[in-house]
Amino acid sequence: MERKRRSRGACIFCDLTYTRVGMQRHLAACPQRQTRLAQVDQQTGSVCLLFHLAVHAVSWPDYWLQLEARGDAELADLDFYLRAIWLECCEHLSEFSIGGMCFTSTSDYASGWKRDAEKGMNVQLQSVLSPGDTIRYRYDFGSTTELAIAVVDGRRGKPLSKNPIVLMARNAPLPAECMACGAPATFFCSECRIEENLSGLVCDIHAREHYHNDYGSPDPLVSSPRVGICGYTGPAEPPY
Ligand SMILES: [Zn+2]
Ligand SMILES: [Zn+2]
Ligand SMILES: [Zn+2]
Ligand SMILES: [Zn+2]
Repeated sequence: MERKRRSRGACIFCDLTYTRVGMQRHLAACPQRQTRLAQVDQQTGSVCLLFHLAVHAVSWPDYWLQLEARGDAELADLDFYLRAIWLECCEHLSEFSIGGMCFTSTSDYASGWKRDAEKGMNVQLQSVLSPGDTIRYRYDFGSTTELAIAVVDGRRGKPLSKNPIVLMARNAPLPAECMACGAPATFFCSECRIEENLSGLVCDIHAREHYHNDYGSPDPLVSSPRVGICGYTGPAEPPY
C-alpha cells in the first residue's frame, strides 16, 4: 500500500517546504528566521514574550498553521485569527479548553447558564499558556471543527509585527480531484456535498454543470478544514 504523503507548506522566512512536524522543528533552526529576529531586535520597540503555536485540525491534520503570537495578545485575538483564516461561516460560538478551564467566545452570561469553569476570551495568552502545553479549540458546537494548538516554544524578543499574530507557515492547498473527471478540482459544490453526500469537488469545466436551486453555483475551493461544513465558503485568508 502506498504510504500517504503528508501535506507540506513553505516557511515565510526562507521559502523551503516541510511537513507539519518538519516545519515545527525547522522554525526553531531556520537561519533566515534567526537573521530576521536579530534585525528586529536591533530596532526600537519593547521586548515581550512571544509564543510559537503549532495548530492543526484534529480530524484532518494535513491542515496546519505555524503562528507566532505575542504573550500579551488575548485569546480573543487568536479566536479572531482562526476564524478569519479557516473557520468563520455564521458567527458560531467557539471555545478554548485549557487545563480544565473553558474560555468561550460569548461574554453575555446574563441568562445565568454560565458553567462554573467558564470564562470569556479577554485573557492574555501569557497568563494561561506555557511552552509544552497543548490546548483544544472548538468552533461551532453543532457541526464542530476542533483544533489542537501546541505551545511549541516561548521566546523573549521584539515582535516581528504590530499585529498580535504572525503567520510563519501553513499547509499548501491539498490535492483534490474533480468527482466527474479526476482533473484538479478548483470549485466546491455545497449542494452535491450536503444533499447528495458526494465529495462536491469539481474542476473548472464541470463546475459549470453545478448550478442548483438551493445552494446556487459552486464556490472556489479554499484551503480550510471547514470546507463542506455548514456552508463554509472561505475566503480562508489571514486577516492581516
Ligand atoms: Zn525557514
Ligand atoms: Zn455555520
Ligand atoms: Zn471535471
Ligand atoms: Zn453540484
